Amino acid sequence: MGRLPPDQVAAIIARKVVDGRLPIGAPSAMLRGPGTGHLCPACEREIATSEIETECIFRDGRSIRVHMECFTEWERARTR
Ligand SMILES: [Zn+2]
Repeated sequence: MGRLPPDQVAAIIARKVVDGRLPIGAPSAMLRGPGTGHLCPACEREIATSEIETECIFRDGRSIRVHMECFTEWERARTR
């Protein structure tokens, strides 16, 4: 699967926040670094080593790793 247009990714992420597939709460910590091949739960693409991944850690100990761009869209969706 190739890269989706940004507005399409934004729509997918917004839907996932609404239906609970992505957390609606703010993470308590964030780490940013090069991708490590994890699947991004926001856009469902692998985070390649050439991309920037943002690891979001929540108060309950859960964490998710998303693309930097997906993080921005997720934040926009959950704070709307
Ligand atoms: Zn992503």
